[in-house]
Amino acid sequence: MAVAAPTLLDGRSLSRSVLDDCRSRSELLAERFGVIPHLAVVLVGDDSASAVYVRAKERACERAGMQSTVVRLPATSGTAAVSDAVGSLSADAGVHGIIVQLPLPTGIDPAAALARIPADKDADGFHRYNVGSLFLGQSAYPPCTPEGVMRLLDHARIGLEGANVVIVGASNIVGKPMAVMALSREATVTVCHAKTQNLAAHTREADVVICAAGSAGLITGDMVKHGAVVVDVGINRLSDGRVIGDVDFESVAAKASHISPVPGGVGPMTVAMLIHNTVRAAERSVGLSSPHPGAEKTGSSTGSSTEVS
Ligand code: NAD
Repeated sequence: MAVAAPTLLDGRSLSRSVLDDCRSRSELLAERFGVIPHLAVVLVGDDSASAVYVRAKERACERAGMQSTVVRLPATSGTAAVSDAVGSLSADAGVHGIIVQLPLPTGIDPAAALARIPADKDADGFHRYNVGSLFLGQSAYPPCTPEGVMRLLDHARIGLEGANVVIVGASNIVGKPMAVMALSREATVTVCHAKTQNLAAHTREADVVICAAGSAGLITGDMVKHGAVVVDVGINRLSDGRVIGDVDFESVAAKASHISPVPGGVGPMTVAMLIHNTVRAAERSVGLSSPHPGAEKTGSSTGSSTEVS
């Protein structure tokens, strides 16, 4: 029996339309307020993967008609120097979004550096105020990767209400906020992690599997049910330079109804959401937003393109 090919959750194409929407909003901000949304990235050391990610963020800013600044510091910088660089950007009214590219070199405390990013410039959505707001279903700056996953699902019209959603990975930046977002859409959520016993027993029950474990090929075809939606957040670099996800694409694609590729799935959406959060911060800096963060629903399928009116 011929098996229908799954629908690809194409993050590359969707991210382009998010960035184009951001560009329209940037142009409006420039015309009406003389404000150009500005993302500042603090990059410490010379990790090659980090350099690639930062370049992708710069390119996304260009596409969205935004300004970007990369503050480069040597790997030998201490925690105080990195924190001070973040502090200077925080005090700069012309900067709307700030991120510290992680991981930082050994010996630099990421928590200390991140603590200097104020909640209203928190483009990554990592600030404890924004994390708490997400928990209440009200975040103005949702964390980029899970929000990108929600956008991919929304775009494919995959509703989560009543669905069994299994999230593999329980980190603070992906798995946990992903669980909160899925729960706020009234999914029944299971969160698995490295200590979970019999992972396959959980994933086989899932209507939607979202894998963010950082383990190449962890999810195989025998671990998902026919017709499941499978989102692969993982990024694993092989010794030959190839980048693959956590999902064994071939065997899972033979059973899934929808699947996200790596590369070209969640990764570009993460960058697009970073840009989106920065544009939103710029809008809020001139008073163009809902009166309080609670009025903005996280993971909204309608996005926020009508905020500038
Ligand atoms: P992390 O290391 O902080 O957390 C990994 C989580 O997965 C932990 O909860 C751990 O318990 C769980 N886990 C690990 N191995 C497991 C296994 N065999 N079975 C079940 N659970 C397991 O990682 P993270 O920062 O959340 O990132 C996870 C992956 O997602 C990495 O590959 C990372 O590169 C990738 N990532 C991708 C994007 C993107 O934009 N596509 C963004 C962030 C992270």
